[in-house]
Amino acid sequence: MNRVLHDFPGGLKLPTGKELSDRLPSLLHPLPERLYLPLHQHVGHPAMPCVRVGDKVRKGQLIAGAREYVSVPVHASTSGRILTIGDYPVPHPAEFKAPCIVIEADGLDEWHDIEPSPDYAATDPADLQRVIHHCGIVGLGGAGFPTHVKLGEGFENAVELLIINGVECEPYITCDDRLIQEKADYIIAGARMIAHAVQARQCVIAIEDDMPEARQALVTALDGDDIELVAVPTRYPAGGEKQLIRTLTGRDVPVGGLPIDIGIVIQNVATAAAVYRAVTRGEPLISRYVTITGAIENPRNLQVLLGTPVRDCVEKCGHRSFSESRIILGGPMMGMQVNHPYIPIVKTTNCVLIQQRESLPPELPCIKCGRCSEVCPAGLMPQRLYHAALRDDFGQAVDRHLFECIECGLCAYVCPSRIPLVRYFRYAKTQINNKERQLQTAQDLRERFLAKQQRDRQDARSSPSAPEAAQDDKRAYLKEAISRSRSRRERIRHQHDPDEKPGDD
Ligand code: SF4
Ligand code: SF4
Repeated sequence: MNRVLHDFPGGLKLPTGKELSDRLPSLLHPLPERLYLPLHQHVGHPAMPCVRVGDKVRKGQLIAGAREYVSVPVHASTSGRILTIGDYPVPHPAEFKAPCIVIEADGLDEWHDIEPSPDYAATDPADLQRVIHHCGIVGLGGAGFPTHVKLGEGFENAVELLIINGVECEPYITCDDRLIQEKADYIIAGARMIAHAVQARQCVIAIEDDMPEARQALVTALDGDDIELVAVPTRYPAGGEKQLIRTLTGRDVPVGGLPIDIGIVIQNVATAAAVYRAVTRGEPLISRYVTITGAIENPRNLQVLLGTPVRDCVEKCGHRSFSESRIILGGPMMGMQVNHPYIPIVKTTNCVLIQQRESLPPELPCIKCGRCSEVCPAGLMPQRLYHAALRDDFGQAVDRHLFECIECGLCAYVCPSRIPLVRYFRYAKTQINNKERQLQTAQDLRERFLAKQQRDRQDARSSPSAPEAAQDDKRAYLKEAISRSRSRRERIRHQHDPDEKPGDD
């Protein structure tokens, strides 16, 4: 029986530009001389190096471990020598440098000993999640959320539906399409492994209805009726988590909630393929498919070792002049512009888009035309969010569900005043997150101070001058109570005072 599909608000059919790169098979990118592996390629805490400069490593060997649950390890992408551990440019819009492990390749590409998990179906789901964690797997659709954390949430809650997301809706990006065409069997096997890891009752692989070759590859590889294949209408951003869930089930993820709150786990097709490699071969995540496209001679999908400089990949596709180009990591709608080509391909890099540099027309005042609201897939009023961000009225922005914005860029795309709306939303989100972090730090410090005071009081009571200490206790307690009340008032004022300017506190 065909699944009934539902509509989501907003969205647009965009020119795709996918024909540039989706016709040719992917190419294996040659081994680079040096690989730059950032310790932080995912959402959560960075990994900690467990190798030293000069150490010899082999392909797949652990070089940085995860010390926290919301973190993943980093593995050597090839064999060679640890050349250095230090700060190097990483994918970031502000030429940011961050700790990286640099491997000088020895050209042998020799594998470290890796161990497969013999029979996933007989493996305890929690053990399967551990394998996925140890292999450093994160969401490869671009978000980079550690996969074991999502699966852990799934295991703790009843999972009605697992969605394997192959809806590659952003223009120009075709790495998932090519991966499905070339490795459909990996994706299907990986989907079954993830379904086992979360004990999902149903599993759907979703693609777009303009991916006929990918659909055929999946139909050919599907050897059972435990997985449903669904082609959804091509419309940006149909591949967004909430939009895809709505399309497939007619259900909405609650505001501020997660798919698991309605019994759904969603994973990208490339993540499913990475899970297959991790479980059946013990292979950690050390490479990925990346679309290299745009204003270049030979747009193509490459299979790239993590840590390979972007420059090498783009040159492989025939482009050498970077002074006249804009480099975008990701697609034209949600991607991040970076300033130079020496940054490495990381776990979340799905596309490198090269565009001609051109001067942008000036931003004009908002004319309240409402076009941005019409296309917003999250049902927001972007112009109101924009005015709130412009006034630094973060309380208003939160009230208007700023954090439901998925930064799809459609509002800015249709805005006749050419207002870079997403930039304003990112600014507001960063300010709010910074404030929350400051509050949390202040609260942690206060708790530590109180704990120390209590211990000092206990020590003082057991000393000979206990009566005076009791008086001191009382004074200190009153002082602390007054100080707490003051800071609470301050905090409330900072959260709600629309005139407060960034940096005031
Ligand atoms: S589309 Fe642009 S000009 Fe129109 S209401 Fe939205 S922000 Fe204002
Ligand atoms: S960027 Fe945010 S506000 Fe703009 S259309 Fe997308 S979801 Fe809506």
